[in-house]
Amino acid sequence: MRCPNCGSHDNKVVDSRTNDNSNSIRRRRECLKCGKRFTSYETIERVSLLVIKRDGSRQSFDSQKIKNSIIAATGKRPVSMKQIDNIVESIEMQIANAVIGDQQEIASSVIGDMVMEELKKIDEVAYIRFAAVYRQFKDVSTFVDFIKNFEEEIAKKI
Ligand SMILES: [Zn+2]
Repeated sequence: MRCPNCGSHDNKVVDSRTNDNSNSIRRRRECLKCGKRFTSYETIERVSLLVIKRDGSRQSFDSQKIKNSIIAATGKRPVSMKQIDNIVESIEMQIANAVIGDQQEIASSVIGDMVMEELKKIDEVAYIRFAAVYRQFKDVSTFVDFIKNFEEEIAKKI
């Protein structure tokens, strides 16, 4: 999404409204370079998108489910609903970009990984909580290994 004023690709979403009738989302964006605000309209083909679950069954894509799982993971953490909405939007965009042409399916594991990446940026505890539910660690040592790896990752960043 290019800024109509300066052409920069860097912008942030400042407001989103879903239009249920047309299945489109209207977003107010702000250019991070020049500060100009502009509007974009996006349509996501939610109806036809299927999510392939771990057991091989298929379900229609529902962003509310993603939102609920993030709310569960961020409970009592300093994460606002606005941040959660931003994550869901980011996931929707990533899915829209990942689903190309006739391929109207996406594995739930791909979506789970996307959510984990987003949570990792915002809250370490929420990230681990989400991973604990979503990765379904088979035993304690697998879970401990996961946390150790994460600690090392954080240590490298500092
Ligand atoms: Zn601009």
